[in-house]
Amino acid sequence: MSFDQLGLSADLLRAVKEQGYDTPSPIQARSIPSALAGKDLLASAQTGTGKTAAFTLPLLDRLTAAGPQKPRRVRALVLTPTRELAVQVTESVRSYGKHLPLKCTAIYGGVGIGPQIRDLERGTDILVATPGRLMDHMQRGTIKLDNVDMLVMDEADRMLDMGFLPAIERIVKTLPKQHQTLLFSATFSPSITKLANRFLNQPEVIET
Ligand code: AMP
Repeated sequence: MSFDQLGLSADLLRAVKEQGYDTPSPIQARSIPSALAGKDLLASAQTGTGKTAAFTLPLLDRLTAAGPQKPRRVRALVLTPTRELAVQVTESVRSYGKHLPLKCTAIYGGVGIGPQIRDLERGTDILVATPGRLMDHMQRGTIKLDNVDMLVMDEADRMLDMGFLPAIERIVKTLPKQHQTLLFSATFSPSITKLANRFLNQPEVIET
């Protein structure tokens, strides 16, 4: 299996090759075609399996295929449990998306909110956020999520362990009804199955 066979655009394949990757990892080989087809995913993947690219590449591909938007509005939302993961995911989005005219912004707690508000005012296509800080922006009215058509929950089990379920529920409620959801979790615990039953629509289940 090679990356060329997954259905990704030439600009993304070029970025993948520039990273030095030839072969998709198992989670990438299984997730990318289904996500590109618009399906919801419930994927179990540990850190180090290439899970970030498994959702980042189809996300970038689908946003590019939909065409550019001016002014930029958030069309893809990635929720992560921690600031560190938000930063890592943002770096991945920027490196895989370096040939694309898309902007990615990260918001997370533990730092001042002012610069984030100014970042958001400039507009962004992709928002990577921790649930608590995102709720804070929602309450202040500094973020609009009414144009989101793709939601990723990364390390969903850790988000639940950290008590983010109420925040996740509030966030998902504000999204348009029609959106694609990609849920990645290291484990499939009963609480993850419950989350999936609530928020995923006939998902493709991927266990690696
Ligand atoms: P992740 O599981 O997303 O944290 O990725 C783990 C590491 O694997 C990261 O350093 C990636 O840059 C790297 N990686 C992702 N996809 C591939 C691939 N197809 N081939 C080789 N390395 C990869």
